[in-house]
Amino acid sequence: VWRSLVSQVMGGANRRPAVSSFSRGMQTVTLIPGDGIGPEISAAVVKIFDAAKAPVQWEERNVMAIKGPGGKWMIPADAKESMDRSKIGLKGPLKTPIAAGHPSMNLLLRKTFDLYANVRPCVSIEGYRTPYTDVDLVTIRENTEGEYSGIEHVIVDGVVQSIKLITEDASRRIAEYAFEYARNNQRSSVTAVHKANIMRMSDGLFLRKCREVAENFKDVKFTEMYLDTVCLNMVQDPTQFDVLVMPNLYGDILSDLCAGLIGGLGVTPSGNIGANGVAIFESVHGTAPDIAGLDLANPTALLLSAVMMLRHMGLHQHAAKIQTACFDTIKEKKVLTKDLGGNSKCSEFTTEICRRV
Ligand code: NAD
Repeated sequence: VWRSLVSQVMGGANRRPAVSSFSRGMQTVTLIPGDGIGPEISAAVVKIFDAAKAPVQWEERNVMAIKGPGGKWMIPADAKESMDRSKIGLKGPLKTPIAAGHPSMNLLLRKTFDLYANVRPCVSIEGYRTPYTDVDLVTIRENTEGEYSGIEHVIVDGVVQSIKLITEDASRRIAEYAFEYARNNQRSSVTAVHKANIMRMSDGLFLRKCREVAENFKDVKFTEMYLDTVCLNMVQDPTQFDVLVMPNLYGDILSDLCAGLIGGLGVTPSGNIGANGVAIFESVHGTAPDIAGLDLANPTALLLSAVMMLRHMGLHQHAAKIQTACFDTIKEKKVLTKDLGGNSKCSEFTTEICRRV
């Protein structure tokens, strides 16, 4: 039912470009609805974009891992072709197949498009009860190496080794992205998060590259802090942070900690920035199989990811309009999904946001 609803809202069957009534000056975005609640929350975003007259034309693609030549896992050619052309994707959650040897779809997308920077803005939503009310920071995580390089082996029975890979190029690339992001988003400081006191060579290299890049961004304040000190300071006073840049594993953990400060994964957007100008924006929660198809999902995380996407595309007015409508709906507390403390359906919450844009 939901698949066909998404298909209706998208304006046609899967793989066909969706054509909306205001198709002039439109930018194409590849939409990967995903699994579980993915189609429901994607349909909500499409509806809200239509109501806001956002100049976006959706090209819907299904993504699942398929075996290509030589048994190599890859994403379907039509999805890759659409992303290569549009350069911008919006993605719902994808379930990780349980079958042995099957790759994580998120990892496969990351590798296919060299999505090297994971960006997560964490901003407190007024009226939504959380431990803090004034969080406004961004975590930028190096997404391609570190402990997640997948280099692991058994040394002898009972002893395994995982390699943490840090390279000069990837460290410089993520540092440059973080400083550019700060500059382009009117943010005043970048903090490099590291453990160079213990991991002298690997984190030492990462930190050195951050320091070097900082030299070219004199308008942005640069600080450096040990990961454990960041954790301590973060829970004591998150307002002291602005943009934080860090290697892969630290970013994986710290970005979820920061999401917790503003109310969890249901309200946290995310963007993955790749080489060659490709960017995929996504909700960071999973497919929520327990509520899939029941019209109970909260579309906020995907909607705020879509707002990030609009900013990335330079569509700032549409981004502000949609974000304000979403935040005002939450602040008023009349129409909220269950996870936000209300009793409304996903469709009712969506209609309320549409009414406000
Ligand atoms: P989950 O995030 O899907 O669910 C955890 C809990 O949060 C559930 O009770 C669920 O109902 C609730 N929840 C999550 N998102 C919600 C939303 N938008 N609105 C309301 N409630 C929401 O985590 P899980 O159960 O561990 O994972 C389920 C599947 O999702 C797995 O196959 C996993 O691999 C996949 N997954 C995908 C991604 C991704 O694509 N980015 C991320 C995490 C998990």
